[in-house]
Formats: sequence, C-alpha cells, structure tokens
Amino acid sequence: MKNKNSTKLFEEAKQFIPGGVNSPVRAFKSVGGNPRFIKRAKGAYLTDEDNNKYIDMIGSWGPMILGHAFGPIENEVRKAVKSGFSFGAPTKKEVTMAKLICDLVPSVEMVRMVNSGTEATMSAIRLARAYTGKDKIIKFEGCYHGHGDAFLISAGSGAMSMGHPDSPGVTQATANDTLTVPYNNTEALAQIIKKNKGKIAGLIIEPVVGNMGCVLPNDGYLAFIREICTKENIVLIFDEVMTGFRLAIGGAQERFGITPDLTTMGKIIGGGMPVGAYGGRKEIMEMVSPSGPMYQAGTLSGNPIAMSAGIEMLKHLKKHKDIYKDLDEAGLELATGIRKSLKELEIDYTVNQIGSMYSLFFTDKQVVDYETAKTCDTKTFGLYFNKMLEKGVYLAPSQFESLFLSTKIDKKLIKKILKANLESLKEIKL
Ligand code: PLP
Repeated sequence: MKNKNSTKLFEEAKQFIPGGVNSPVRAFKSVGGNPRFIKRAKGAYLTDEDNNKYIDMIGSWGPMILGHAFGPIENEVRKAVKSGFSFGAPTKKEVTMAKLICDLVPSVEMVRMVNSGTEATMSAIRLARAYTGKDKIIKFEGCYHGHGDAFLISAGSGAMSMGHPDSPGVTQATANDTLTVPYNNTEALAQIIKKNKGKIAGLIIEPVVGNMGCVLPNDGYLAFIREICTKENIVLIFDEVMTGFRLAIGGAQERFGITPDLTTMGKIIGGGMPVGAYGGRKEIMEMVSPSGPMYQAGTLSGNPIAMSAGIEMLKHLKKHKDIYKDLDEAGLELATGIRKSLKELEIDYTVNQIGSMYSLFFTDKQVVDYETAKTCDTKTFGLYFNKMLEKGVYLAPSQFESLFLSTKIDKKLIKKILKANLESLKEIKL
C-alpha cells in the first residue's frame, strides 16, 4: 500500500502543528506507523492522499452514523451556506433544533447549544456547581469528557484518594475538586460519597463507556447511581457525547431507562459539523445565563450551517427509527463473527459490544473498568491495527477507543471486515 503523500504531509505538518495533528490520537503514536491524511469520504469509505480506500470503522469518532457525506445533510448545508455563515443573533433553526432535542432525549426539557463535547461537559459541571452551591465532582477512571481541566484527572492511588493532574497545566486545586472512582464499582462510589457528604455537586459518567474501549455498565449499575445521586442531592450528568442518538434515538438513557438530571451531547448532533449541547431539567437549565446567573456563552454557538446539518441528521434518525434495529443487528453480527474467529484461532481475547459500538480487547480478562482495560497487550494491538489498515479497514488507532458502525456498513462489508480480521489475527501469529 502506497503511503508516500501521507508521509510527506505528516513530515510537513510536524513542523507547523504540534505532533503534526490537531487532536492527539490521530498521530498513530500508540499503534506505530504514519497517519493517513484523508482527502475525501463517502458512505462507508475514506480515501487518503495516496488514493487508498478504507472501510471506516470510526466515522469521525462517532458523528457519521449515516455514513459520510450523507446526501440530505449535504443538501441542507449547501442551502444554508447561501444564506450566510454566522449571524451572532438568534435564528429559527436554533428553535427547531432545541425542540427536536427536547422531543427526542428523555431528560432534556431545555437545551443550550455549544460548539463541542468539551464545551458541553465543562458547562454542565459549572451548572451542577451553580445549582447545588457545592464544589466537588465525581468522575470515573477511564471515562473521557473532553479536555476541560476538571476532567484530566486520574484516580491516583485508589478510589478514595484525591485526584492528581493527568496533564501539566492542570492545577492541584482543580484536581482536588475532582474525585475519581472505578467504573462498575458500587461500593467504591458509595464510600467516596459518604466520605465527601454534602460536598459533591455533580457526578458525570459515560453511561456506556467508549473511551477505554467499549465498556458496558453492569446490570443495575446506572439505576444505583441514579438512586444515590437523588438521595445525596448530586446532579447526575450523563455524558452522551458518544452514546447520544447512537444507542437509541434518545441515547443510552432511553436504552437503559434511566433519566439523568443533565445530559451532554455532541458528535451525531452536528451531523459532522462542530456542535455540542447540554440540557436537562428546566429548573436546573434556568440557572443558565441570561435566564439565570451561571455564565456561559459562544460567538459561534447555534451556528446556522451547523444547525442545518444537525437538524437534518436528527430528523432523519427520528423518521427512520428502524436504523437502530439494523445497527444493533449489524453490531451483533460483527461481534459474533469476531468471537467465532477468536475461537477458531484459540485466542482468548474479549469482545465488548452494544448496538453499533464495539471493541476487540487484546486481553483474556473481562473488560469492565479501567484496570481491566489496562491489561490489554497494546503492542500486539498496534500490529493488528496496521494489518487491518493494509487490508483496507480503518480502525481507531488506539486500543482504548470504541469502534462505531454506520448504516452504510452492510452485510457484504461486514463479511469483508471479518475476513480482514481473521487474516490479520493469523498474520500477527498470536
Ligand atoms: N465526552 C465524550 C464521552 C467523548 O467521547 C468526547 C470526545 O470524544 C467528549 C466528551 C469531548 O468532545 P469533543 O471532542 O467534541 O470536545
């Protein structure tokens, strides 16, 4: 497979962009090799600068649930461009978008549009603090909520300890207000809440985790969290930037039947444009400026072109709810096929899957939290990743990411992916 143009671009990019990329995982650092520079995408496929074509299993890290350059969305964007790019004033489209989200997402009675998932989560915890008058937040080890300072905290030496910054530049003072606990562990959570009684403003969680690979909540886990948050007056925030409009039209909260107080959204909601949102109970959302005192703003928030893409995406998903049944079936078929191959090769690896999200973990452990995810053999994953790439299947360039199916990945493509998977596993001689 030729890679000359991508390699040249990467060398050039590194001179002007830190690490040559505008978001770290894109640099292929944890899998080896050079990133492919993509020039075009359509349907299930990406095409790189050397004209290699790949079946895309990331979909721009989630948004492209209907495949790339989906016709009706493209049309809406084209139409919108003709009316101007940004007005810095309210628009009809923002009202349409807000009504759609409130209609589709069970917990959302009011919503504020922002420009990314990171903005949504940062704003949601500020709101939880403003609403409760408390300072601390709880997050879960291995969950990612964007690059806001408060979220770049790991557990340190155990769930009961104070967090410590994951990145230079995050102050200890910020870290002290973020408490981290292992995912899927009810006891650790109950203990940390007890120890910090009356001090916790909010709890933020990926109801299904995508950011340590795909990790599902244990039975009853989300219900337990809902109950304890209500009892302790902690604002429960579901970060549905990944799961929103993916695991069901109403997100993981619809799928699991658990209603948070606030929900953060991104990715699919923008149809591929830079959009995020946070919303929830009216009583809490009315704290947001200018209706309330919690300040949050954005020059490009509710951008008319981005809204046009997002509205068309949500309208399409709402109209064609069968999409979710089809995606569930495709996800299961793929996971079952991978498990079958593993069995055939007598490899004990783990496959986690729900709907159109899945991960193949290079470990024989059941992956239920960050600790078990970390048992993966990332070196071998890197070899596998590159074998898949050579065979034209573009996976996420990290073991600790979920993969995403789009509606464009049909039975024929699933067969192709499974064939590439079996051959790749054979070739790396496990
Ligand atoms: N929350 C979750 C669950 C995410 O997966 C991400 C990004 O991957 C974010 C928040 C941050 O979103 P963004 O990259 O749009 O800032």
